[in-house]
Amino acid sequence: MARVYNFSAGPATLPESVLAEAASEMLDYRGSGMSVMEMSHRSKEFQQIIDEAEADLRDLMGIPENYKVLFLQGGAWTQFAAIPMNLLKKGKADYILTGSWGKKACKEAGKYGDIRVAASSEDKNFTYVPDVDAIEIREDADYVYICDNETIFGTKFHKYPETKGDTVLVADVSSCFLSEPMDVSKFGLIYGGVQKNIGPAGAAIVIVREDLIRDDVPEFVPTILKYKTQADKGSMFNTPPCYTIYICGKVFKWLKAQGGLEGIQKRNQEKAAVLYDYLDTTDFYIAPVRKEDRSIMNVPFILKDDSLNEEFIAGAKEVGIVNIKGHRDVGGMRASIYNAMSKEGVEALVDYMKKFETEHK
Ligand SMILES: *Cc1c(COP(=O)(O)O)cnc(C)c1O
Repeated sequence: MARVYNFSAGPATLPESVLAEAASEMLDYRGSGMSVMEMSHRSKEFQQIIDEAEADLRDLMGIPENYKVLFLQGGAWTQFAAIPMNLLKKGKADYILTGSWGKKACKEAGKYGDIRVAASSEDKNFTYVPDVDAIEIREDADYVYICDNETIFGTKFHKYPETKGDTVLVADVSSCFLSEPMDVSKFGLIYGGVQKNIGPAGAAIVIVREDLIRDDVPEFVPTILKYKTQADKGSMFNTPPCYTIYICGKVFKWLKAQGGLEGIQKRNQEKAAVLYDYLDTTDFYIAPVRKEDRSIMNVPFILKDDSLNEEFIAGAKEVGIVNIKGHRDVGGMRASIYNAMSKEGVEALVDYMKKFETEHK
């Protein structure tokens, strides 16, 4: 069996041991005589799966008691709408734009309230994160929104904006979920699609402070998009994405075995350093993001001579390096090096990049 080094931005590589364990339980989950895919979400077995998943996630992130964890369908995009529907009370929110995902979320929110762009790094094609201390946030904003790690442009907030009064901070963490410790209490709501760093596509996890879960949302809000609906029913108002939650649960246990979020952060930093250290020594490849704002999850880099792109991609594939092509908004290449990407994978990529550089200089 040959597994490749998969640098896909998402759905993305998963820990091999998790996949192997899921395979071993595929036909008969722990003596139940059926697969988790075939199981009622009301069964004792599945209740245990979701309860354990939540408990392990709470443990990993140190989620305070006064926050609910929701496992929801519809990916991150559904939350672009659900967040303003649930959180707008006075009707205003401020968005900090660091890339396409924030822009899309902002546009979607605009359907439901008075949404303002408080800051944007679009002037330099999203190659940096605006200085959070210099951003003015409206006093009566219900929330301030950020995309913590920009998957396409490869930036990360290394410092968060401060909020005052009743204004809360909301973060899309789709592409940096569980990649490092995070102080949940600084946020009103944290959410992300799981298919980048946690599990298979099909679910979003929403971590939301209890007092923000309201019954008095506008009449037009669909029942299923109201956080209260799912919070009251333990994420099982309707059929949850059962199999996805089951795999997420296994990944949480895998993360605990890696030394939790401190442990994985250390590994992630080491992995990213292998790639960035090399990028900083060459001018054959260009890393467009400002150094202090770099992501350790998504690393875009551009070949100085972009006529070599196709050849670079084809040669990479021959040595088992796949899904390395960059997003069209940035061009060039992008290496997504999520939790489950091994250091050997990143080293293999850098070896290949060096060889390619030598051959084409
Ligand atoms: C991938 C991604 C999304 C979109 O996720 P879907 O689950 O496909 O809706 C949103 N935000 C970020 C930061 C992403 O990386």
